[in-house]
Amino acid sequence: MVAAEGPQIWKSQSGDLATGLAITQQLVNGDTSMKLLDTKTKRRQGQQGWRNRVLANFGTECAVCPTGVPQLLEGAHLLPVAKFQERGLAVDNGLCLCRNHHRAMDEGLLALDGRTIHHRFHPKTGLGLTQSLRSKALIPQIGLAADALAYRLKMLLAQ
Ligand SMILES: [Zn+2]
Repeated sequence: MVAAEGPQIWKSQSGDLATGLAITQQLVNGDTSMKLLDTKTKRRQGQQGWRNRVLANFGTECAVCPTGVPQLLEGAHLLPVAKFQERGLAVDNGLCLCRNHHRAMDEGLLALDGRTIHHRFHPKTGLGLTQSLRSKALIPQIGLAADALAYRLKMLLAQ
């Protein structure tokens, strides 16, 4: 009866013939990892929806700095998904943070107490993680390649 089940599984899958045959072959071999892959895909899609809801929850701005560029914003889990999977899609477990501040929180350098921002300070300058851009870029010890800088400037001006 295995032969009769094969085509049923095949028909239930959407996609191209090669993918269907690959899935069928894996099932015949007793490999059910395709189900796990499907679960991961669903979880990824769920995370994307969660990110969008978290960003909207903060008006598409970093909760701790003025960054409001969507490409630089992330949904940051307060309770990490690795330990608290059941809270992975809860909007009340998400902060909208720019990538910099997301990393800072994950490294234990930034945390909120209500609306109070707690953050580490630079040991020499006393400056924290919440200052916005410098008025001028730093001058590096080894100068930057002009063509490399021009490449990025051209990208910016093409927007
Ligand atoms: Zn930020």
